[in-house]
Order: sequence, then C-alpha cells, then structure tokens
Amino acid sequence: MSGDDVAPQAIRKLAPGRLVIASHNEGKVREIRALLAPYGVEPVSAKELDLPEPEETGTTFLANAELKARSAADLSGLPALADDSGLCVEALGGDPGVRTANWAETGDGARDWTLAMTRVEDALAAKGPGASRSAHFVCTLALAWPDGHVQWFEGRADGTLTWPPRGTVGFGYDPVFVPLGDTRSYAELDPAEKHAISHRADAFRQLVAAVF
Ligand code: IMP
Repeated sequence: MSGDDVAPQAIRKLAPGRLVIASHNEGKVREIRALLAPYGVEPVSAKELDLPEPEETGTTFLANAELKARSAADLSGLPALADDSGLCVEALGGDPGVRTANWAETGDGARDWTLAMTRVEDALAAKGPGASRSAHFVCTLALAWPDGHVQWFEGRADGTLTWPPRGTVGFGYDPVFVPLGDTRSYAELDPAEKHAISHRADAFRQLVAAVF
C-alpha cells in the first residue's frame, strides 16, 4: 500500500516529552535521533525500554511501520515512532522491498549486510548485463499514541546500485546505493549530507511539517 491508497489522516500535534523510537536497528535509531534533535522531544529507544520486537507480518511498509509503532505505544504508554523501510530494485520488480532486512538473514538468526548486498547483486546479474540498475529506498514513518491514534508519512529516494560496495559510513545497504545527482554511495556521504537527501529525511520533512 502506498500513501495514495489510504484515506486522508487526521493530524495531531506531538507535545514535548518522551517519544519512543520503536526500532532495535541501531543505524535507524542513530539517524532518527539526529533528525529529531531540533524539535524538543526526548527520544528513548525500544531497546532502552526493553520492549519486545514485534514480528513484521505486514505485506506493506505502512502495515509494518504501523504495527511496530502501535505495539511500542501500547506497551510503553508513550507516543511511539516506527520506521519501516527498504530497498526496491526496478529490475527485480521492487524486491527486496518489505523483505529488505530478511535478505540479510544468515539462517542462524543473525544478519549479514554484505551477504544481503551480494544477494541483490546476484539477482541483478541473473537478469543479464542489460538490466536496469535503478533502485529507490522507501521510508514509511508511523507515529502512534497510546489511545490508538496513528498517522504516517512516506519518503522516497531514487538512485542506482553500484558494485562492489563502497564506503564505511552508515548501515544496511548504504555502500551500494548511489543517490540521484551524486557519484558517491550513501556510505561515502557525511551523515549530514545523507540527512539532506535520504528517504528517511524526506519522510521526516513531512512529519515535522505536520506534527511540530
Ligand atoms: P525494516 O524496516 O526493519 O524491515 O528493515 C529495513 C532494512 O532496510 C534495514 O534493515 C536496512 O537494511 C535497509 N535500509 C533502510 N533504510 C536504509 C538506509 O538508509 N540505508 C541502508 N539501508 C537501509
């Protein structure tokens, strides 16, 4: 489901105070803290509160963001912000998409991002040398309150895939994604440069305009 498919939302402002970042992904939590820094909320991560990670049973970014945010808001009694994001590769029909994190699974419960990037590259190679290397990242943010109110924001960043991986900054698939208009991968950008152009920053701009 994309933002175009669902009814308009009733927007609620977010009051100063504690806000749960409903993620156990350290890369995401770091970026979300930096993006929230100017707005006077006190971010506390799901890990710091010892909240369990709900199973991501949704088939869309929105469904998974919403279930993570609702679970954290219900369990903590605080507003909670969740991010569901992923890499969509044009020549792979949008894969890995909502299953982006799963492509990193090693089979013993661990995740290996080099393995995940290699799987994407192998799938692209199987499409032949003429296959498009266009891809985009999606970030859907869901903000849930303990009384059940939820609102969401969806961001996108277009680019191309590079191989081999380049750069050491960032997380996940950053080393293989070159954003449109640049020659460097996300993992070769300063965090501040990534925050100016990323899918997460795009979703945050919408969130900030609506709730602060
Ligand atoms: P999920 O939202 O927890 O299902 O996981 C999404 C996965 O997408 C993350 O674990 C990352 O591997 C990948 N991902 C999302 N955003 C980014 C990003 O900004 N850079 C690199 N990888 C990302």
